[in-house]
Amino acid sequence: MFGPPGSGKGTQSVTLAEKYNLLHLSTGDMLRAELAAGTELGRKMSAIMAAGELVPDDVVIAMIAQKIDSTTGKAGFIFDGFPRTVEQADALQVMLKERGMKIDLMLVLEVNDAELTDRMKKRALVSGRADDADEAVIKNRIAVYQAKTEPVIEFGRRAGVSRMVDGVGSIDEIFSRLCSQVETII
Ligand code: AMP
Repeated sequence: MFGPPGSGKGTQSVTLAEKYNLLHLSTGDMLRAELAAGTELGRKMSAIMAAGELVPDDVVIAMIAQKIDSTTGKAGFIFDGFPRTVEQADALQVMLKERGMKIDLMLVLEVNDAELTDRMKKRALVSGRADDADEAVIKNRIAVYQAKTEPVIEFGRRAGVSRMVDGVGSIDEIFSRLCSQVETII
């Protein structure tokens, strides 16, 4: 599940995971859990996350590998907020290939910047996420997405798996657009 911060990846991934028996893997959620648990890793990553920068590739790659290897009984995985760099995308492809799996679909939610900022500010009120509450950090996260993460869409396009999906509308409308794409590959 792909798209800029605030595009609805988390919300939609959770429901898609339920519907299609997938394990939802959000690197953002995993990192926030480390922070909340006060682990050494969490403490090391907290300043990077608070600034809206990306944590090092090897940190998230190791987290994902560990989850893939400890999961059974699922039809597959839905990655949310990962891969965020071309290096992460390369590592994911290798990791999956080594385990006899592949990327089947890359859903890209498209939402304009003004709507993203608005959504994140609203989310801050309920999520308590510091990186949603500060407009400068929101701006930086969008800029980081454009500089480092958007190139991954090209990676998906070349692999023939990317599908652009309009991410503006009601949650249900967007969910049904996403499901139509999933239905084309199952
Ligand atoms: P998210 O919940 O996906 O918006 O992620 C929140 C923050 O966690 C990001 O702003 C990054 O600091 C960090 N993060 C989450 N996923 C990744 C990733 N795949 N690569 C690097 N940093 C990440």
